[in-house]
Amino acid sequence: MGDLPPRRVFFALWPGDEAAAHLAALAHNLAGRGSRLIPAESLHMTLAFIGAVTSARIGQLESLAAEVSGEAFDLRLDRLGFWPQRGIVWAGCRQSPEPLKCLFKSLADGLSGAGFAIDDRTGPVRVPHVSLARHARCRSLPRLGTPIGWHVSEFALIESHLHPTAARYETLAVFPLQDAGAE
Ligand code: ATP
Ligand code: MG
Repeated sequence: MGDLPPRRVFFALWPGDEAAAHLAALAHNLAGRGSRLIPAESLHMTLAFIGAVTSARIGQLESLAAEVSGEAFDLRLDRLGFWPQRGIVWAGCRQSPEPLKCLFKSLADGLSGAGFAIDDRTGPVRVPHVSLARHARCRSLPRLGTPIGWHVSEFALIESHLHPTAARYETLAVFPLQDAGAE
């Protein structure tokens, strides 16, 4: 049996349909001609990017994620941003919510315990964000009037299938977060 090709995976928070529709509409309004809008079903907040792993390692990721403890929380995206190097327009949080920091810490501890290296400089603690469009050219951004958010009650392990036009994301597993106040 030959080696299976590595698989590209990451942990993420996925918006509900309503928040995704709001974000997609926002992307449509903000991104100029020539930019690549991220479709509603692909919008997400990356929690931890893992990268290429063997299929065997995916089982390990699922087990450690199942051990992560985190509380459900309301995520509010209340600012817009633009990273000119890669032309990314995004919606994010002015301040990372405490439950998001705790969730990231618990996941990062599990990952490092199992020997997965993640770069926490790009994690959600520094700039929690949902990318809306790529290859955008933006001179100025409006203020985000009404924050867009969703109730985060789970996180997911996602496989990314890269294609020349756009990545396709496949949910491999979801991990529930505890409702605050639940026994
Ligand atoms: P494409 O690379 O084709 O533009 P993509 O960036 O959406 O598509 P991936 O590169 O597989 O797809 O990335 C999956 C998610 O992980 C995206 O949210 C991406 O921004 C994020 N990501 C990718 N590489 C890193 C990295 N080195 N550090 C942190 N996050 C990353
Ligand atoms: Mg990428």
